[in-house]
Amino acid sequence: MEDSFIKALSEIVGAQYTLSDPESLACYGYDSTPELQSRPGVVVLPGNSEEIARVMALCEGAGVRVTPRGSGTNLSGGSISFDSGVVLQTSRMNRILEIDEENLTATVETGVITSTLHREVEAKGLFYPPDPGSMNISTMGGNVAENSGGLRGLKYGVTDDYVMGLKTILANGEILKTGGKVVKDVAGYNLNQLLVSSEGTLGVFSEITVKLIPKPQTKKTMLVHFPQLEQAALTVSHIIAARIIPATLEFLDRTTIKCVEDYAHVGLPLDVDAVLLIEVDGHPAQVEEDAAGIRSICERHHCSFFQTAASTEEALKLATARRVALSALARVRPTTILEDATVPRSCIAPMVKLIQDTAKKYDLLIGTFGHAGDGNLHPTCLTDERNPDEIKRAHQAFGEIFEATIAMGGTITGEHGVGVAKKKYLPKLVGESGLKVMRGIKGAFDPRGILNPGKIF
Ligand SMILES: Cc1cc2nc3c(=O)[nH]c(=O)nc-3n(C[C@H](O)[C@H](O)[C@H](O)COP(=O)(O)OP(=O)(O)OC[C@H]3O[C@@H](n4cnc5c(N)ncnc54)[C@H](O)[C@@H]3O)c2cc1C
Repeated sequence: MEDSFIKALSEIVGAQYTLSDPESLACYGYDSTPELQSRPGVVVLPGNSEEIARVMALCEGAGVRVTPRGSGTNLSGGSISFDSGVVLQTSRMNRILEIDEENLTATVETGVITSTLHREVEAKGLFYPPDPGSMNISTMGGNVAENSGGLRGLKYGVTDDYVMGLKTILANGEILKTGGKVVKDVAGYNLNQLLVSSEGTLGVFSEITVKLIPKPQTKKTMLVHFPQLEQAALTVSHIIAARIIPATLEFLDRTTIKCVEDYAHVGLPLDVDAVLLIEVDGHPAQVEEDAAGIRSICERHHCSFFQTAASTEEALKLATARRVALSALARVRPTTILEDATVPRSCIAPMVKLIQDTAKKYDLLIGTFGHAGDGNLHPTCLTDERNPDEIKRAHQAFGEIFEATIAMGGTITGEHGVGVAKKKYLPKLVGESGLKVMRGIKGAFDPRGILNPGKIF
């Protein structure tokens, strides 16, 4: 990248927030996606919306490509600049601008860490439910761009259920305000919802207004062991069929259970096929009734052990089994390929079985965990990217897993986004007409194609 262009950027954001030394560029050359690395030409850290707007206008004028970046925790290669362009990193924009207790909204700058918002609103008796496993690191802007889910998705939904307003900087530097604090708004196309999940390809979010809800009065956490996978899967379907909607209904398979136990020593059994982590919350009477109903359904499906947390500390310990699943798997081999296959809930048992059979067929170690209540599974291949043969087999296996996912009426990604990692599967899922509409939308927002090029399609 030319020195004169870097100087022009530094005149906008300040020299100390314009990074072009090789060490810094190396740090921003990867994210949480395995196998993908590419150094940007320069990294800028703007401090406010106006600086983002000026950076975008400068880059668009010069035809320089820009990749927005929050904390780089995405799992689809979305925050890597593959053409030596500008990485626009948002960590300086980390202020909670307002918690409006009358309208039950919070407005934040894009770089606010998700769990910081949780803490601040919960101190006021309010609740922002989306809780991705990465919530202690991920930014709100990244959550919106990926439409992140979390462990509470079954009852409370995902990020787009909470986004009410956005301030977005377009590719040419114009500022677009969509939505706001109003609960109802049907004026024209729903641009808010279109921008959620756009993976940094349509605009750069600078401010986000989200809906808050009252904090649930109480919750109960349960951990249930199942000797057989099918019983666990049937339990999931039957809990929902009984009109009980837990806040959390998470699944760990045998491989994951073993890795979690080796890592966290939480007392998980090593001789069962599956463990479910279940959490119900709300009014105390409702919580008691739901927990009793869940217990009886689990027992009817021959669970071998049913544990209810007796205290907040014990609840945290039980939840740890699921919260640490990815870290526990990731320490087994040097490379972790975490996928995001999502199927209708009724297909969980056949899907997990198919993943296990595919792992055997390709001689791979794959652990599966995930949001069973949402049908959102994370088959996680523990491998080593220095072993090309094994990596090739891993990709073949995931190709078959995604074929089956689509055939079951599912999707290639429930929450991690397409990025570059999954774009080869997208045509099969959305078809040529889907791709044509998406390309048209991209062209309308970013005619010169400078925002996060090469991502999604
Ligand atoms: C251990 C671990 C656990 C995880 N658990 C979950 C989970 O439970 N649920 C889940 O959904 N995901 C999960 N993820 C994935 C990831 O954390 C989420 O996608 C998260 O939202 C990314 O946030 P980020 O700030 O790191 O964004 P980044 O990774 O920096 O960026 C993600 C995408 O958003 C774009 N982007 C970032 N900021 C902006 C902005 N201001 N404007 C426009 N575009 C922007 C980037 O260009 C990129 O395409 C997990 C990841 C890890 C490593």
